[in-house]
Amino acid sequence: EAGEISVKDIDHIAKTSFPLCMRHLFEKVREDHHLKHGGRMQLGLFLKGVGLKLDDALAFWKAEFAPKVSAERFDKEYAYNIRHNYGREGKRTDYTPYSCQKIISSTPGVGDHHGCPYRHFSEENLRAALVRMGVSSRAVEDVVDKVRNRHYQLACTLTFEAVHGSSCDAGINHPNQYFIDSQRILQ
Ligand code: SF4
Repeated sequence: EAGEISVKDIDHIAKTSFPLCMRHLFEKVREDHHLKHGGRMQLGLFLKGVGLKLDDALAFWKAEFAPKVSAERFDKEYAYNIRHNYGREGKRTDYTPYSCQKIISSTPGVGDHHGCPYRHFSEENLRAALVRMGVSSRAVEDVVDKVRNRHYQLACTLTFEAVHGSSCDAGINHPNQYFIDSQRILQ
């Protein structure tokens, strides 16, 4: 089960335990100080599942957006959606993080960074991202082979195994499962 994390933990766990889809979103929000709606939903609900509480989520997004978005504008335009994801607005539904299936079948447009990199990246970009994750060149070939056969979750499972040096017999079905399995190995 997920524990509780605070804003200061995110940098570290992103490097060690986020699946590529979430690492990519995290890197992009760092780089651009912004994410479009689809990316905010995908990463925001994942972080909620990882154990980031509402106040910390508001602090995280506000700080990441700060170079571009004033505190006043943030409170007006973005805070509502974050509280909404935590069931504090609107219908008060407690939204759950997206599964791999949902992410893989999403259709990111130009300028969007959500989706599954195994499904939505070009082969060139995927290879570069895998190398940055520390995946060996031999394992990269195995991952790319799975992607060519449209086995995206198997590609992610092979990445998990390469990065952790440990098998993942259940396979990857959910980004939060990737995170929990990773933490279990690393702790
Ligand atoms: Fe994320 Fe799932 Fe794609 Fe892995 S297979 S990158 S966890 S959506």
